[in-house]
Amino acid sequence: MPNTSTSPKQISPNISRRGLMLVLSSPSGAGKSTIARNLLSDDPDISLSVSVTTRARRGSEIDGKDYHFISQREFEIMRDNDGLLEWAEVHGNFYGTPFEPVQEAMKEGRDMLFDIDWQGALQMFEVARADIVSIFILPPSMKELRNRLERRAEDAADVIDKRLANSKLEMQHWNEYQYPLINDDLNECFANVKAILRAERLNRDRRVIGMTDFVEALLK
Ligand code: ADP
Ligand code: 5GP
Repeated sequence: MPNTSTSPKQISPNISRRGLMLVLSSPSGAGKSTIARNLLSDDPDISLSVSVTTRARRGSEIDGKDYHFISQREFEIMRDNDGLLEWAEVHGNFYGTPFEPVQEAMKEGRDMLFDIDWQGALQMFEVARADIVSIFILPPSMKELRNRLERRAEDAADVIDKRLANSKLEMQHWNEYQYPLINDDLNECFANVKAILRAERLNRDRRVIGMTDFVEALLK
């Protein structure tokens, strides 16, 4: 498995912290892409890990921005040559996290956002638990989950049915994440995500260099 060790990010002249990996999962339609999009436009200090997928592109999606859309053969080559940090089959398609951009971000101490399913999240917890902040987004009800998938109007009816059926298995994994959130009111849920990120950036364990010296100087 590739090495994901992080370097410190400078946060003030004399104090730096480790970059973190924000893992966001949810059943399809609960709102994680909306929250991820809002976060990326709100916060210049976090960037998206753009996954590869064998799924067909939706009308609203941009290749290279939302996903790298690749063939099954290309996926297999990346997977079999250690090109993916994690991968999974979800709703009948393959998805994976390209390793190289993550390695670069971690080297530079930059924060990264991962919109991945629970199978991928478990693989990431194995290799980088200390640097991961994990959030699981739940819908307020199954009825609202269906409404959202239908309102999004990007998937065929049979695909929506398949995603709803899979959501029951996916939601059973909520308690493997640090922060379960119910996305009823979008603004409130988004505010909670930002609060989590803000607090986690201040976590003592991420202050790798300088804090001890700073406090020692205060105590002199
Ligand atoms: P996911 O990425 O989890 O599959 P999306 O972010 O695509 O879900 O959201 C599915 C649909 O639900 C989108 O049309 C989105 O605008 C809408 N949506 C997201 N959050 C809410 C919310 N809190 N209330 C109402 N609609 C929402
Ligand atoms: P969608 O097809 O709706 O974009 O995504 C379907 C599911 O695949 C979502 O749960 C999404 O989080 C997940 N997913 C997207 N990219 C990746 C990835 O790189 N790895 C894994 N494991 N899951 C992914």
